[in-house]
Amino acid sequence: MYKINDNYLKLPGSYLFSTIGKKVAAYSAEHPEKEIIRLGIGDVTQPLAPAIIEALHKAVDEMGHAETFHGYAPDLGYEFLRKAIAEHDFQARGADIQADEIFVSDGAKCDAGNIQEIFSTDNKIAVCDPVYPVYVDTNVMAGRTGTYDPKTETWSDVIYMPCTAENGFAPELPKETPDLIYLCFPNNPTGSTITKAQLQEWVDYANQVGAVIIYDAAYEAYISEPDVPHTIYECEGARTCAIELRSFSKNAGFTGVRLGCTVIPKDLKCGEVSLHALWARRHGTKYNGAPYIVQRAGEAVYSPEGQAQLKAQVAYYMNNAKTILEGLKSAGYTVSGGVNAPYIWLKTPEGMDSWAFFDYLLENAGVVGTPGSGFGPSGEGYFRLTAFGSYENTVAALERIQKL
Ligand SMILES: *Cc1c(COP(=O)(O)O)cnc(C)c1O
Repeated sequence: MYKINDNYLKLPGSYLFSTIGKKVAAYSAEHPEKEIIRLGIGDVTQPLAPAIIEALHKAVDEMGHAETFHGYAPDLGYEFLRKAIAEHDFQARGADIQADEIFVSDGAKCDAGNIQEIFSTDNKIAVCDPVYPVYVDTNVMAGRTGTYDPKTETWSDVIYMPCTAENGFAPELPKETPDLIYLCFPNNPTGSTITKAQLQEWVDYANQVGAVIIYDAAYEAYISEPDVPHTIYECEGARTCAIELRSFSKNAGFTGVRLGCTVIPKDLKCGEVSLHALWARRHGTKYNGAPYIVQRAGEAVYSPEGQAQLKAQVAYYMNNAKTILEGLKSAGYTVSGGVNAPYIWLKTPEGMDSWAFFDYLLENAGVVGTPGSGFGPSGEGYFRLTAFGSYENTVAALERIQKL
């Protein structure tokens, strides 16, 4: 008789978004005349930029001719894209990363979830709290997290690093030594960042204790302040302790097209074993690669036209972020984030927990956001609004909130 991987049974249901969906549906059924504004979206809404559409069309046409047809993509991605990434995202920022250290993929979520496969199940992970749920959930599936305590909503074998108002939503070095450290800056959901000097401390720590940092740079394009690093490889010594995950989703609108990459420097070794070689082996064995057409679209992201068009999109979302930040501040809320990230993190009013505030906002303003407690125990008492809506809806939502 076969057995299932019963680690999957340990996963608590995805309570957050299903509960939000049910609550919004119930409210709509009761108040069909009320127009609901969603500021909880974690997905981009602007269409693909013209430069990207043009590249897609051209690549599609190439696929229709024997001379320019492309079959299986190279395991680690096409050279033209890996070179463009290495030059623009790393070398132009003074980070020593070469094209052959980049693995092109179908997105950062898959890579964030799968990268743990090359590490022993004995390894202990450390995560920011609150954070993007993929890191913990995929380690649960792998059997690395111990037992779940529904009361505290924590796993016995996970090191949680609280990110709170007291520490400026930047984690402190953990007391217990982890093996794998997941960091995500600019952060989802808090919108917080850390400075290059702060990130350097993490790199030094990881090298000292023999840990690997898995650095999620999905929101890098939203950074507006000069002392915030765009890649962990701006820090000295990161080549021997860090893996970086990158995505074309939030900077270029590829959430439906799918494209990302993972960087594993050749200097990253566990004893004699190269992590780069392990991940290359995995890619070659059970990964089909991103389509040629999509990789050509990714290349267009780095063209001068692509860069100009995408800067405009990021500016559009960040103008929404500014509208939300200023609107909330003038309504008396305590807010953070929204300067280097499309996320605004607000403190719920005295006496209201995350879910009570969700209900309050839905019932009184018809605005939907995301309760902070859904991203980890330290998110309780906070609420996430996102800048991915339309400008008109964002303005309308803030007008409603200001009238409360
Ligand atoms: C949206 C997001 C990603 C991007 O995932 P893709 O699979 O590339 O779309 C990665 N990390 C975080 C924290 C995100 O919020």
